[in-house]
Amino acid sequence: MTKIFIDPGHGGSDPGATANGLQEKDVTLAIALKLGNILNNEYEGHTLKFSRTTDVTVSLSTRTNMANNWGANYLVSIHINAGGGTGFESYIHNGSYSGKAETNRLRGYIHDAVVSSTGFRDRGKKEANFHMLRESNMKAVLTENGFVDFLDDANKLKQNSFLEKIARGHASGLARAFGLTPKSGGTQIHIVQQGDTLWSIAQLYQTTVNRLLELNPGIDPDRLQIGQEVVVSGQAPRYHTVVEGDTLWRISQMYNTTVDNLIALNPGIDPQRLQVGDLIRVS
Ligand SMILES: [Zn+2]
Repeated sequence: MTKIFIDPGHGGSDPGATANGLQEKDVTLAIALKLGNILNNEYEGHTLKFSRTTDVTVSLSTRTNMANNWGANYLVSIHINAGGGTGFESYIHNGSYSGKAETNRLRGYIHDAVVSSTGFRDRGKKEANFHMLRESNMKAVLTENGFVDFLDDANKLKQNSFLEKIARGHASGLARAFGLTPKSGGTQIHIVQQGDTLWSIAQLYQTTVNRLLELNPGIDPDRLQIGQEVVVSGQAPRYHTVVEGDTLWRISQMYNTTVDNLIALNPGIDPQRLQVGDLIRVS
């Protein structure tokens, strides 16, 4: 298990760089949370800890203490640049220290993946004496993802889909650096469009109609609705039929999951009103 510490730069009373209606602290937090979601939903082989998950003030020394006390294997500090320029750059600690070559090698995966996923101009792999890099006991990288005070970059940073690309770059770089594996149970969903049939969807995802029927119990192939979600790969969902005395907690224990997971898998479920015979999705 690789312990990855994710540090969204700034926060609370420290907005970081501000320009073009953007505050660095908000953008770094959005990227960090997306990164966490991608890593947790799509990869395994790691555990995560965040220096913050909301807009709160956290001092630099508190951040590195958190990472050091947790025994993180790697630290990623996410920032947005300012001061004239455009594009992406990353930093490792400067000077000479043991493990520097490995620190630089790991940074290379993340740097290259962010550049390719975002199309940002590559400003280079750099070194600096930043607190987050110097005071953390583990290998660490600090990324500067575009410039808030360069209009082109700022306009990109205002788009949720672009922040997703930045986060995906970080995630795939981390996955390569630490050998994180794609989740075997990860499911891929197709949203039904005008004219779709199960056969055309099967073609699109290189699978078979029979497999789609198996993955989507209860689906009526003759009545696909536009906007309907069709599971196209992954494990078939498993269901539990509620019996007398069941609670979500009991069901979660039975299937080795958590109540939170069950609630996420069953939108709209009322944990206080389970009915005998209800089908509860458990995975
Ligand atoms: Zn910053």
